[in-house]
Amino acid sequence: MRYNTLAVHITNRCPLTCAHCITDSSPRARGDLSWEQVEAAVRSAAAYVDGVCVTGGEPMLLPELALASIELTRSLGLRSSMVTSGYWARDDNRATEIVRRLTASGLDKLAVSFDQYHLVQPTAPYVGETTLHHLLSASSGTDLEMVVQYCGPQDHDAYDIATKSAHRFGARFEAAEVLPFGRGIQLARRRGATVDEVPETACGVVGRPVLTPEGDLYTCCGPARGAPPDSPLRLPLGRADDVGDALSVASRDPIINALYVRGPRRMFNMLSDPARQRISANLLNGSMCSLCRAITDDPGAVVELRAALTPLALQLVAQAGVVHVRASDRPNPTTAFTKSEENECLR
Ligand code: SF4
Ligand code: SF4
Repeated sequence: MRYNTLAVHITNRCPLTCAHCITDSSPRARGDLSWEQVEAAVRSAAAYVDGVCVTGGEPMLLPELALASIELTRSLGLRSSMVTSGYWARDDNRATEIVRRLTASGLDKLAVSFDQYHLVQPTAPYVGETTLHHLLSASSGTDLEMVVQYCGPQDHDAYDIATKSAHRFGARFEAAEVLPFGRGIQLARRRGATVDEVPETACGVVGRPVLTPEGDLYTCCGPARGAPPDSPLRLPLGRADDVGDALSVASRDPIINALYVRGPRRMFNMLSDPARQRISANLLNGSMCSLCRAITDDPGAVVELRAALTPLALQLVAQAGVVHVRASDRPNPTTAFTKSEENECLR
């Protein structure tokens, strides 16, 4: 499997304190990557990924590190992207100046998160529809690919604001559900959930690994964070310049490839009855990620899957290559309203 994007999570800090944040980010959170770590990780990953996404927390709390990371990414011939809360777009002038610096650094894609949890901010009450519009307005005359990322229920005023704003300024809109990880566990956990509720789709996010401020490397930029050391989602890493080697090894792992082409639900069906019972008991809700973590956090289930998938390893790697080519050939409309399976850097 070839990786789409390496997410470099440069800081855990964020001016916002969203109730659904799976990285537990807030102004009180601690942990930043250094430039030396970022540079080593990006250079070593360059042969294995198509792009690098600077994310957090809020990456623009470290603007010089974020801009230098984007410049490095482009100098290596990779596609550069960033996910931001857009907290910095307090007025038109400031938004225009920061967007100018981002584009001058070579940023290709800017994703701004906006949802109902952004509208009730104890730590950043100024964030809202107006800041979103400042940011989108400043970006609309540039070559930036713009995305508005919405997370949460759709029966909310914030959903209408997000979709209409995306449409008005020519941005793509992506929606995702709240996941039961980080602070999101309070909102999304649902006792009594069953595996029958889990979609039978493949995971498009497993090809988007993340390096965290703690120096940990995971094979998906979101719910894998916090997985136990022996989980297949957590890639062994000594130093930041080992990122490329770790990705290379994981790209041939049958479990990672099976997640990419088959998805957790079909993998669950390969397990023994005792393993299925354990995993069903550990389900946090009916999401694909909850099932994935319940399977990959269970050492016995991982052993069973490795035994079942090893004879299929070459076939899975080949299938994953075909899926990747198809994904990168996808048209990229400026105003596509989609339910995204690939909501980049889910937070
Ligand atoms: S969800 Fe995003 S914007 Fe909200 S606290 Fe977390 S990192 Fe910050
Ligand atoms: S299903 Fe969720 S937890 Fe599993 S690899 Fe995909 S994004 Fe990560």
